[in-house]
Amino acid sequence: MLIVMHSRATEAQIKTVSDVIEDMGYRAEIMPGHQRTAIGLVGNDGRVGDSRIRGLPGVRQVIHVSAPYKQVSLEWQAEPTVITLSNGARIGGQDVAIMGGPCSVESETQLMEAAEAVAKAGGVVLRGGAFKPRTSPYAFQGLGEEGLKLLAKARQRFGLAVITEALDLASADLVAEYADIIQIGARNMQNFSLLRHVGRMNKPVMLKRGMSATVKEWLLAAEYVVNEGNKQVMLCERGIRSFDDSTRNVMDVAAVALVKTLTHLPVIADPSHATGRRDMVTPMARAAVAAGADGLIVETHPRPNEALSDGPQSLYPVQFQAMTQEVTAVAKVIGRGIAALA
Ligand code: PEP
Ligand code: MN
Repeated sequence: MLIVMHSRATEAQIKTVSDVIEDMGYRAEIMPGHQRTAIGLVGNDGRVGDSRIRGLPGVRQVIHVSAPYKQVSLEWQAEPTVITLSNGARIGGQDVAIMGGPCSVESETQLMEAAEAVAKAGGVVLRGGAFKPRTSPYAFQGLGEEGLKLLAKARQRFGLAVITEALDLASADLVAEYADIIQIGARNMQNFSLLRHVGRMNKPVMLKRGMSATVKEWLLAAEYVVNEGNKQVMLCERGIRSFDDSTRNVMDVAAVALVKTLTHLPVIADPSHATGRRDMVTPMARAAVAAGADGLIVETHPRPNEALSDGPQSLYPVQFQAMTQEVTAVAKVIGRGIAALA
């Protein structure tokens, strides 16, 4: 439930509403706005009666949020959430943010070459996994903290913000020390203790869609993070499983457009994991931007044939450059630009 106060409501009236909410056994979240203050009633799973609130002085309107996710819904907050990164780049605003880099951080040379390519192409965020969720326990598992240190070094050298995956609570603490955005991978989308843990951090989070997750489950997972207090959450569509294995996953472009009608959170698209094929990445990047994605996260590697993970879907640096030019043109058609460093 969202209680919208009159523009002239007093502090005392706002406090009374909060006190009543707490007395009803819920949490009150005060949200000051340009025009007027709103107070969110948090903690209900289902409709709450509003008889004790409706008639209170200063209350203008009571809105019952119909979606099961509350705080991430557009009903709760009409303005888009805009996340400003340490390098000044903004995600979720007017411009589309480009993120790129290798699947895994493999070595200093590899990462610096990739970072240079991303920066040259106009990207603002460098990706690279240090803790890798691999299907086989015998596959390369990532460099761990050593990889995080290399990411931090690349950030210093190229001015890019850094995103990397946290696999569990322990790696989340480490990732938060080094990175600008904590990635929660598809396999962990419903790891509720991990979601709560990063929800208590003051650090942007990118929540990838589980490979078999419905849009509702995905948004409820985001609600876990936001409900702990961390409002800096972005979603990432990375393809879902289907009967058809022609591509690695099925890129759900409709979900990109759909979630923009349901949530104020920024939506990023990952055409690399969605397709698994280098030749499909740029077409799907174009499609995602056309569908309204606020950003792209794309794998690129200086030598994809030598990559320790996801080589077949990694773009050559020249292809990454060409992709950003193409999506710049698509963005322009729908009145958007490409996010730059501030
Ligand atoms: C990744 O981005 O490196 C990754 C493992 O992606 P996903 O969680 O979407 O499979
Ligand atoms: Mn990968």
